[in-house]
Order: sequence, then C-alpha cells, then structure tokens
Amino acid sequence: MLAELSPAVIAEVKLTATLLATKQRICILTGAGISAESGIPTFRDKQTGLWENYRAEDLATPEAFARDPKLVWSWYQWRRQMVADKAPNPAHHALAQWQYHAQTSDQQVTLITQNVDDLHEQAGSSVTHLHGHLWRNRCGQCEIPYLEQSRAAYSKQDTIRFDNKLITCPHCEGYIRPDIVWFGEALPVQAWQTAEEAAANCD
Ligand SMILES: [Zn+2]
Repeated sequence: MLAELSPAVIAEVKLTATLLATKQRICILTGAGISAESGIPTFRDKQTGLWENYRAEDLATPEAFARDPKLVWSWYQWRRQMVADKAPNPAHHALAQWQYHAQTSDQQVTLITQNVDDLHEQAGSSVTHLHGHLWRNRCGQCEIPYLEQSRAAYSKQDTIRFDNKLITCPHCEGYIRPDIVWFGEALPVQAWQTAEEAAANCD
C-alpha cells in the first residue's frame, strides 16, 4: 500500500504512526469515506436505478416512514441488497489489527463509527455505532428488536430475504423498521455516551 503513496505522504504516515504509538488512549471516528472504499455509496452520492428520483434525505426520516412505510422499507431492502456482498478494505483491517494488538499493550483504542454497515465487525473490530445498524430491525411503534431479520438472516443467495413486503410486529400492530437513526431522531444514549467519553478522555 505505502508504495502507491508519494514520499511526502509516506513521511507523514510514519510520523503519525510514531506519534500514535506513544499515546495511551486513542479515539477513532470513522464515517462514509472508509466504507466508500469498499464500494458502499455515501448518502451524498446520487442514487441510481429505481431510486434515482428520490433523495436519501427524503426517505430516511420518521415522517417518510409514517407517510409511506412500504416505500421506506423497500428502499432499505434495496440498500441491504446493495451492500450484502461488500467486504472490509485494508483500512477496516488495519483498525481491527490495531485494536487486537492494543489488547496486549497498555493502549486503549475506542472505535466509533457513523456508518450503519458492519464492515468494521467483519474485519474483527469492536465498534460503537452512532447511527444504528443497517442489518438490525426493530418495531417502529413499541421499539422491540425484531431479531428474525438480523444480519445472519440475509445472504447473497437468499434474495427472498430482501422481500419488500412490510413486516408487522409480533407484539403490537406497528411496522418493523431498520434500527437506524433517521434524520430528526436522537442518537442512541449508550453509544453517544461511549463516544463522548472516549473523545473527552483521549490523548
Ligand atoms: Zn411493536
């Protein structure tokens, strides 16, 4: 990897590595850029195919789900299908290795992400999700997790799992929605606390 970079960038990377090695408490925040390298489009990318006339900002809201749950659910099923075959890239692996090696040193590496995919987990990281999980679902009404549709339930071969049909909560009459923080919704309390503490206490 380093061979593809200019000498100036390599020097900066080495300097950064030396600097980080001497620090004890590290806090890492990742966002759309790291997953874009794995081929996952960012929210700012124009949508393609069936969804090119929609803006992500108009679909990822509680109001949109209340107005047309089928539309929003179909869009997430499409997004899931799109990322199902995506794999972690060298950046995800590097962070996972860093966390792994930190276990046997006195370094503490807290990884926080704004991404809803599970590429950090696939690489072996322990990660806090600020904006929820693409592969998890919960009831839009009573909020109880809907485990039948977790990551393991989806696979490339099993496209029926990406069915656009709405699912009704077994506990109430609410519709099942992705466990994602939509525009206008509060961040999950526990994840936010973890992120805030890690950021406030890092070196
Ligand atoms: Zn419910």
